[in-house]
Amino acid sequence: MLHDVVIIGAGPVGATLALALADADLDVVALDSRAEGTVGRGDRSLALSHGARLIFERLGVWSAVAAAPAAVTPIMAIDISQRGGFGHARLDAGEQGLPALGYVVSYRALQAALDAALARSGCEIRYDCAATRIGATPAYATIEATQGGAAFESTARLVALADGGGELADKARRSHDYGQVALVGKLTPREPHHGVAFERFTPEGPMALLPLGNRYGLVWTTTPARANALLALSDAEFLAQLADRFGSKAALRHDALSGFEHIAERQTFPLRLEYASRIVDERRVLLGNAAQALHPVAGQGFNLGLRDAYELAQELLATPREAIGARDHLAAYARRRRPDRIAGIAFTHGLLGVFGTDAPLLSWPRGLALTLLDSLPAVKHAFTRAMLFGIHQGTL
Ligand SMILES: Cc1cc2nc3c(=O)[nH]c(=O)nc-3n(C[C@H](O)[C@H](O)[C@H](O)COP(=O)(O)OP(=O)(O)OC[C@H]3O[C@@H](n4cnc5c(N)ncnc54)[C@H](O)[C@@H]3O)c2cc1C
Repeated sequence: MLHDVVIIGAGPVGATLALALADADLDVVALDSRAEGTVGRGDRSLALSHGARLIFERLGVWSAVAAAPAAVTPIMAIDISQRGGFGHARLDAGEQGLPALGYVVSYRALQAALDAALARSGCEIRYDCAATRIGATPAYATIEATQGGAAFESTARLVALADGGGELADKARRSHDYGQVALVGKLTPREPHHGVAFERFTPEGPMALLPLGNRYGLVWTTTPARANALLALSDAEFLAQLADRFGSKAALRHDALSGFEHIAERQTFPLRLEYASRIVDERRVLLGNAAQALHPVAGQGFNLGLRDAYELAQELLATPREAIGARDHLAAYARRRRPDRIAGIAFTHGLLGVFGTDAPLLSWPRGLALTLLDSLPAVKHAFTRAMLFGIHQGTL
C-alpha cells in the first residue's frame, strides 16, 4: 500500500508534522522506535520562542502542556552581559508588549501532550518501530523497518525524516565541532527568579540560566576536561565554582543571583553545529535535528525545527495528493526554508564567533554591541523579535 507520507521519528518535530496534517484527507503514518509513553533520551529543558507557542496553540496542544505541573515557565526578561568587560542589555516582555519573551518547557511534558493529541487525532502512529533503511525511486520511497522483532517494508510518496539526526540522516552532513561540551543541571536559587533568564558571555564560553519551575536550568559551556572535573566535584564545591565563573552579583545587577542552594542532575553533552547541505532528495525531506543541530547559545535550534515541520505541513496541504513528494514541490519547500535555516545557523554561529571567544580585542566591540542593544529601542526590538520568532520571519 502506498502511503502519502511516512514520518520517521515522532519526537517533538515529527509529531508536530503529523498533527498539522491530521485533519487533511491524507494517509499519514508516523514511526517511532521509542515505546509508547516514553521519551528517547531522558528529559531536558527546551527553550521555546513565542512563535513556537503560536504553532502549538494552532495545533491545540499548548493548553495541555501548560496544564502539566511545572512543565512551562515563562521567560519574562533576558539579562545579557559579559564577564570581564563593560556592556549589559536587558530584554523585557513588558517593553515589547508580550505576555512572555519565550518559555522553558520540559521535553517530557511536551512529548506527552503531543502523543496524547496524536492519539486523539486518529493519526496512525507505530511505537517500538525502528526504520532501518530508506530507499527511493522517482515514483515512491521505500522504508525498511522492524517492529517487535519483525521486519517489514512500506512505501510512500514522501518520507519525512525527523529522527533527531541518527543513522538514517544524510551522509553529506556538515559539521563543526566547537571543542566544548554543555554541562547542564538544575539549580535551586536562594531567592525567587521572577522569570528572569541570564545569558553571560565569559572567556571560557557562554553560560545560561533558564527559569524552570522554581529552579534554574543551568547551561555551562566549557572544555570536556573541565566539565569532567566539574562533574566530579561535591555539590558545595560545584556551587562555589559556579559563583566564581558567573562573576559578582554587582556585575549582574540582579537580586535573583544572590546565591544558589542546591544543584541536581548534572550531566554533559557535546556541542556541535551539524547541518545537511541538502534537506531534500528523491522522495525524502529532512527536518528538525535531522536537518540541523545548533549550539544552544541562542535557543534557535528547536524553534527552527518546529518551523521546518509547520512549513512542510503548509506545503503538503497546498499540494495535490499525486504531486506529494514530486521534485518540484520538494525543491520549492527547500527554497522556502533556506533563508530561515541560513539565518538561524549564521546567527548562532556568528554569536559564538563574537561572544564565545576569549580574544581580549573583542571585549570592547562586545561591550559596545550590548550597550547599543540596550539603549537603541529599534535595535532592541529587532533583536527581541529575532529571538521570539526566528531571524527570518517568514510565516510567524
Ligand atoms: C543530549 C541533548 C540535550 C539537549 N538539550 C537541549 C536543551 O537543553 N535545550 C534545547 O532547547 N534543546 C536541547 N537539545 C536539542 C533538542 O533536544 C532538539 O532540538 C529537539 O529534540 C529536536 O527534536 P526532533 O524531534 O528533531 O528530534 P528528537 O527530539 O531527537 O526526536 C527524534 C525521535 O525520533 C525517534 N527515532 C530516532 N531514530 C529512529 C528510527 N531509526 N526509527 C524510528 N524512530 C526513530 C526517537 O525515538 C525520537 O522520538 C538537546 C539535544 C540533545 C541531543
